[in-house]
Amino acid sequence: MRPGRIAIDGPAGSGKSTVGEQLARKLGYLYFDTGAMYRAVAWLALQRGIDARNGAALGALAQRADIVIDYPHVEDGRLYTVSAGGQDVTWAIRSATVTRVVSQVSAHPEVRSVLRAQQRALAYQRNGVVMVGRDIGAVVLPDAELKIYLTASLEERARRRYTELQERLGTGDAALPSLSEIMSDIERRDESDKENMQPAHDAIVIMTDNLSVPEVLEVIYGYLEVA
Ligand code: C5P
Repeated sequence: MRPGRIAIDGPAGSGKSTVGEQLARKLGYLYFDTGAMYRAVAWLALQRGIDARNGAALGALAQRADIVIDYPHVEDGRLYTVSAGGQDVTWAIRSATVTRVVSQVSAHPEVRSVLRAQQRALAYQRNGVVMVGRDIGAVVLPDAELKIYLTASLEERARRRYTELQERLGTGDAALPSLSEIMSDIERRDESDKENMQPAHDAIVIMTDNLSVPEVLEVIYGYLEVA
């Protein structure tokens, strides 16, 4: 099977970004991380002082945000470049401040309908996309030919996020949160994202606690018949 559209969903730290990017590279598909779009809207809202409770204002902001996700262009460890309102926000959208408000911003139906329409349009513009998020298989691309839902225990997801940040920031960096801070942040986001985080009824659910990234990819390749 060579699906045109592959949906990968899962909670924070489930490995969906790493797995999605590597899968896209292997297949020569476009990798598209929808979380970056919600983060870009949250970043813009913080910049412009828009209240995270104001759904109407955030929906209007999402509409004119001009979010572009493109090839990396800069060699600083990024998988892709995200720009919003003409500014490179690739790393800014990963900050703790954005992470703290993004779930509140993404919960507004006004924001979701704008971004979902953009995601759907993009997925159909080309043949061959791996789209990663929370609601891709169930809502954005219900007709995706392959749907994967990755999951892992809270402890394991927090450990992964901690290691990732440690590698990016360095052990001594003041911006590096503790493992327990990361765990409570993920727990809080799981709770607020719950409503928009349902696996599609026809998704293949992979529990990744005891699997490495290459092992998860092997499981997925099994469905694709890719060697
Ligand atoms: O995947 P990531 O952690 O970067 O996503 C950031 C936030 O964006 C999530 O916590 C969630 O609130 C929101 N999101 C969403 N729907 C998606 C992708 C992300 O609501 N498809």
